[in-house]
Amino acid sequence: MVSRMGERIIRTEEEWRALLSPDVFEVLRMGGTEPPHTGAYVHTSEPGTYLCAGCRTPLFDSSTKIDAGTGWPSFTAPVSAEVVQYVRDTRFGMVRTEVRCVVCDGHLGHVFDDGPPPLGTRFCINSLSLLFNPR
Ligand code: FE
Repeated sequence: MVSRMGERIIRTEEEWRALLSPDVFEVLRMGGTEPPHTGAYVHTSEPGTYLCAGCRTPLFDSSTKIDAGTGWPSFTAPVSAEVVQYVRDTRFGMVRTEVRCVVCDGHLGHVFDDGPPPLGTRFCINSLSLLFNPR
């Protein structure tokens, strides 16, 4: 069953498991993290938009992509403030800010405050949570 509440897409865990590959499911729906330097988009620089791998919502633009040297694709900002939501994450003995897709509530990664000026934000995002749509 798919129910759309405004811009929200709600599926059961079983439905997501059937739709997504196992590695994408683990990151997007279970909050996992891909190993660093393994993702498809760590070093990409082509112009285009990175969509949510769960619901195809445009999330990040290539113009905001930075090489943070972490082994994960990194951005200074989402395409708009409305496409992501933030959750306090205290797992693994750390206090971090988790970034989720606002439409499907999929786990994307985390945001840190050590990004370049003027925004100062660094969105550290799993490649597995994204799909690249070239311009
Ligand atoms: Fe999504």
